[in-house]
Amino acid sequence: MPELPEVETTVAGLRSVLQGSVLTRVEPRRADLRFPIPVDLRQRMTGATVTGLSRRAKYGLIETDRGDMMIFHLGMSGRWRIDPAEIGTHDHLLLETAGGRVLALNDPRRFGSIDLVRTEAWQAYAPFTRMGPEPLGPAFDVAMLAAALKGKATSIKAALLDQRVVAGLGNIYVCEALNMAGIAPTRPAGKIGRPRLALLVAAIRDVLSAAIVAGGSTLRDYARPDGELGYFSKQWRVYGREGESCPCGGAVQRRIDGGRSTFFCAQCQK
Ligand SMILES: [Zn+2]
Repeated sequence: MPELPEVETTVAGLRSVLQGSVLTRVEPRRADLRFPIPVDLRQRMTGATVTGLSRRAKYGLIETDRGDMMIFHLGMSGRWRIDPAEIGTHDHLLLETAGGRVLALNDPRRFGSIDLVRTEAWQAYAPFTRMGPEPLGPAFDVAMLAAALKGKATSIKAALLDQRVVAGLGNIYVCEALNMAGIAPTRPAGKIGRPRLALLVAAIRDVLSAAIVAGGSTLRDYARPDGELGYFSKQWRVYGREGESCPCGGAVQRRIDGGRSTFFCAQCQK
């Protein structure tokens, strides 16, 4: 599943094709993904110039000179394909530029979404209204995190996955950051002192930044035909490594809560 670094890398790859380009074709190939695709998407985007691309949490934002912003989410299995050799059944949205480049949003499981809002009102887009700060932005710091977790009896893992606390963190990066900070995933969120929260903030920034750098180094692959944006291999400390060694030498364990796997090391995470 694409997480924040994959979306950041995807947006960077799309930027290399779309920034400043005129969209000559905007073609939804079905009426919905997880939610309906706006019926006026084609009409409002065709002929527009792309003026900016950015990311909020796990959403990609594509702005045009008409004051519109297309917002996409990759869901569980979404990815953009650049200049695909052929269009497949899971390519649900096609964009073509005046320069002849083609982008296809491919999403076999269709948990992703495509929306269109007015750019000046983008922060009022429903998923964004109660969302916490960006974990790589200036608003995410120890004071903010301590205030958000104060009195919370839920586990620190559940708290970090709560998008109202901090935006865009998913299961993989939460497992990795908690291991790096030496904090047990089950520890009550409101009972972690500031020095340890400082380690956690630094760990979250580090794991995300390292993944974005790793993704950026794969960007050159996107230039080739049929390049796929959004996924790259990474070396995890604990995620998906049950029974293997944690960097501390302890054994990585796995537990399941609410259908989600948590990977951790009981030797160094307290
Ligand atoms: Zn360990």
